[in-house]
Amino acid sequence: MKAVAVFPVKREVRVIDAPEPRLQSPTQVKVRTLETGVCGTDKDIVSFSYGTPPPGSDFLILGHECLGEVVEVGSAVKGLQVGDLVVPRVRRPCPHATCPACRGGHPDFCITGDYTERGIKEAHGFCSERFVEDVAYVHRVPRELREVAVLTEPLTIAEKGLREWERIQERLPWRPAPGRAVVLGAGPVGQLAVLTLLRRGFATTVYSHSSKPNPKAEAAEAAGAPYLSTKDVSPDELVRSVGEPDLIYEATGVVKAAFDALKTLANNGVFIFTGVPSDQQPLSLAGEEFLKQVVLRNQVLLGTVNAAATDFDAALEDLARFRARWPGGLERLITSRHPPEDFLDVVTGKAGKGIKQVITFS
Ligand SMILES: [Zn+2]
Ligand SMILES: [Zn+2]
Repeated sequence: MKAVAVFPVKREVRVIDAPEPRLQSPTQVKVRTLETGVCGTDKDIVSFSYGTPPPGSDFLILGHECLGEVVEVGSAVKGLQVGDLVVPRVRRPCPHATCPACRGGHPDFCITGDYTERGIKEAHGFCSERFVEDVAYVHRVPRELREVAVLTEPLTIAEKGLREWERIQERLPWRPAPGRAVVLGAGPVGQLAVLTLLRRGFATTVYSHSSKPNPKAEAAEAAGAPYLSTKDVSPDELVRSVGEPDLIYEATGVVKAAFDALKTLANNGVFIFTGVPSDQQPLSLAGEEFLKQVVLRNQVLLGTVNAAATDFDAALEDLARFRARWPGGLERLITSRHPPEDFLDVVTGKAGKGIKQVITFS
C-alpha cells in the first residue's frame, strides 16, 4: 500500500510501498485513510529536526491528523462497524506502572516522556492507504462531518486548552463570565481556537503577523473575530482598541510575538501557549517587569500539548455546532487537497500556501 514516509538517517521523504497492516488483536479495527491534514509538526519532521521512527525501522510513516473509514473490525469490537467514519487520537500511553497520567487514560499528561505518538514519535502515522488501530483510540464521526472532520485533531488543541482554562479559573471566588480573548496567529490552530472561543462567548480578536487583506483575516472576520496585524497595530494599540484580554491563546510558535502580547494580559488573566518554536533568535526579556506583572496581576501561563479522549469528543461536538452557526466556515479553512505524492511540496510550501492543506487518498 501507498504511504508517505520520512527516512531521518538518509534524509529522504517519499511515497513508499509499505506492507498493508493486519488486525493483530480482536479489539482492533482496520481503517482506510480518507484524508490527513498537514501541519507545522510535519514540517519539523520533514526537515529532520523532530520525529522518530518506530524501534527497528529506518522510516516513519507520517500523518497524525486523520479521517478514515472503517474497513474491518475485530471480533471484540463494539460500537463500530464497517463503513463508519473515524478519527484516531495521536498519543499512546507509556508502559510504566508508575505513570498516573497514562494509567488513568491521560497520556497527554504523561510524566515519564516514554509515550509514543502516531506519525511523530516511535509509531507510524496515518498517511497511508490503510492503518490498524485499537478501537479504544478511535472516535466515531457522524457522516455529516465527512468534509470537515480532518480538522478534529487540530481542534482538540483548543478544546484541551479551554478545558484547562475553565479549571484554572475555578481559583477565582466568583464565576467569571467569558471576557475578552486574543488569539495570536491565524493558521488552522488559531482559526479553530477563534471558533471555540466565540462559541463559548468570548469577545475574540485575532492578532497576527500579515497585514490585511488576506484569506486568514477574512476567515476570522467572517466568523466574527476582528483581525489586527502586528505590523500595523502595537500591543498598546491593541489594548486601546479592544481592551486588555482575559485570555491570550498563542498559536504561532513565534517567541517574540508571544512575549510582546503577554504584556497586554488583564488582571487574573490566563496565557495559553500552544505553538512549538524552532530556530529563532534568542529573546532578551525584561525579567523584573515580567515577573512583577505575572505576580502582581495574578496571571497564569499555561503550556498545553496533545489532547485526551474527552477533547476529541468535544471537538466532534463542536464541529457540528460550528457548522450550524457558521455555514461554510469550516470548509473555507481547508484551502486545498492534494495527492500523497505532493506531501513534501505541500509541507514545504511549494504547492502553494493556504490555511489547512490536506492529503487525500482516493
Ligand atoms: Zn498537527
Ligand atoms: Zn506515561
